[in-house]
Amino acid sequence: MILKRICVFCGSSPGARPGYVQAARELGTLLARRKIGLVFGGGRVGMMGHLAQAALESGGEVIGVIPRELCEKKVAFAGLSDLRVVASMHERKALMAELADGFMALPGGLGTLEEIFEMLTWGQLGLHQRPCGFLDIAGYFTPLLAVLDHVTEQGFLDALHRSMILSAENPEALLQQFETYSPVAADKAEWALGMMDS
Ligand code: AMP
Repeated sequence: MILKRICVFCGSSPGARPGYVQAARELGTLLARRKIGLVFGGGRVGMMGHLAQAALESGGEVIGVIPRELCEKKVAFAGLSDLRVVASMHERKALMAELADGFMALPGGLGTLEEIFEMLTWGQLGLHQRPCGFLDIAGYFTPLLAVLDHVTEQGFLDALHRSMILSAENPEALLQQFETYSPVAADKAEWALGMMDS
């Protein structure tokens, strides 16, 4: 799969372990070196700031997408060549989705989880065929991935849709999964109808 740009969702905080920020920096550098553009939330704070800074330092393309309200609170990353200021959180997500060929989540909080889950949901509905995955640094997402297995075992998530959710323990491995990803024709509505008959 050709990846021109990847959208990365991550915390506006740095998190409790230095490894999180380190991974954000590693991913920023890796994307720049591979000439893959970065689309992110446009903030200068936490994981986001480190990710964007590292990509810029390595000469990468970085596009920030930030709602006006957050921009006015002075949390925007100054000096981005491309900062798109939008009217709302909804508009932001739509534009981020439009710009990117895949979606990654790095450690983060509610915002990060909400953003990646929306992309996963759109994927299982067949609204896009792009790779989505978690960078499971220091086991941060391991409990969440276990919940997803539980959701699958309990019949609320199709095993095929579960298999579309990528995860890896380092940026290089996750990027490789994105590059070799082949979209699965998986329609949640059809699966739900099939469950009715079983
Ligand atoms: P959280 O994981 O709760 O820290 O939220 C991070 C996600 O929400 C990011 O991917 C951003 O899209 C958005 N976000 C939250 N806070 C900010 C902020 N101060 N500046 C820019 N984006 C933010």
